[in-house]
Amino acid sequence: MSQKGQKSLNVPDFPIIPFIEGDGTGPDIWRATRMVLDAAVKAAFGGEKAIVWKEVLAGEKAFKQTGSWLPEETLNQILDHVVAIKGPLTTPVGGGIRSVNVAIRQKLDLYACVRPVRHIPTVPSPVKEPQKVNMVVFRENTEDLYAGIEFESGSVEAQKLADFLKTLGATVPPGAGLGVKPISRANTARLVRRAVAYALDKGYGSVTLMHKGNIMKFTEGAFAKWGYETAAELFPTNTITEAKLWEEHGGVAPKGKVVIKDRIADMLFQQVLLRPEEFGVIAAPNLNGDYLSDALAAQVGGLGMAPGANIGDACAVFEATHGTAPKYAGQDKVNPGSLILSGAMMLEHMGWDKAAKALSKALAETVASGVVTYDLARQRPGATLVKCSQFGKAVAERLAG
Ligand code: NAP
Repeated sequence: MSQKGQKSLNVPDFPIIPFIEGDGTGPDIWRATRMVLDAAVKAAFGGEKAIVWKEVLAGEKAFKQTGSWLPEETLNQILDHVVAIKGPLTTPVGGGIRSVNVAIRQKLDLYACVRPVRHIPTVPSPVKEPQKVNMVVFRENTEDLYAGIEFESGSVEAQKLADFLKTLGATVPPGAGLGVKPISRANTARLVRRAVAYALDKGYGSVTLMHKGNIMKFTEGAFAKWGYETAAELFPTNTITEAKLWEEHGGVAPKGKVVIKDRIADMLFQQVLLRPEEFGVIAAPNLNGDYLSDALAAQVGGLGMAPGANIGDACAVFEATHGTAPKYAGQDKVNPGSLILSGAMMLEHMGWDKAAKALSKALAETVASGVVTYDLARQRPGATLVKCSQFGKAVAERLAG
């Protein structure tokens, strides 16, 4: 977190970290994750450092206890303590809050959704060489079609907007539902700033700006243009554009420079499958990033093993990338890997790299030993099928040595 544009955290030895256990399978995966995180911190620091967990409410549990899906107190606690972790939350059906997850991101201005995608050896994959996948998606989290500016077909608002568009010389089909796609320079710049800083910090060779600017010139096209401008303005000495790389360096990046390139979204979907080794950090507007991160997760074993974080300038919330998997709720069955690996990201974010590394190693060794939950066991003949809690216990025991 030393690179330009990123604040360093001043973490005490016994930090209070708020957690939201989540709905559906959330409590199961949270219990396993907490056990593993405590074991990782203990393995790395003995008793000199430890996390002091503090439960905060959101989702169904919050609604039942307080009448609110997302109490103000929860948001304040996360802001006060700067780092938090959460399980998946049910999206309430019919009225009220649109999505608790989206509300958390927007209210705390967690503008970067960060999703590392790496293959853990022996995890079943649909591609031939999953070990070549080592990418980190930085998805813009606050605008684009997710801004929630949408009007239903036949509504007064949709008709008003259609009439207004007509005055600008734009016509839409009669009775169309309408959505607005805002993409701004400021929000693009802060995302790209974080993506480039991350690439420099972690030694990735490139940042790819993913866009569909050939069609949507003033939103997606502008995202790519502003992305290049941000890299040139904030990181003039340690970035180089792909164009310059070929013009001046025969395609070989000078040492210490991150290559800034862009790819049209549809082509990028193809290239990450055919030549994954050519991509490191990928910065994307909200919708593209959402699609791409799940598609990449599939290459390395699916959502059960894909970690994620929502990061802003004031605070960060680490979370499982899958949903509540309600049909398995309370069965102690699903894979806690996504939340555990998100916990490793959290430890790294706090500067507790030793604990993060120990955790990632212990999880990889457990999976490699064939001890896995149902989702991986069904693709891996001969595996030892374990419950969610047993998987957590196996990783924690490995950490304890
Ligand atoms: P989901 O909960 O992600 O589950 C879809 C399927 O993915 C499951 O049936 C299961 O597949 C697999 N899966 C999910 N988590 C797994 C895990 N930990 N281990 C192994 N397999 C796992 O998606 P959904 O059913 O569409 O959504 C359910 C609810 O979650 C909705 O209310 C949705 O809005 C919410 N949601 C929340 C978040 C979030 O909190 N960030 C994200 C997405 C969705 P199999 O059936 O093949 O076993």
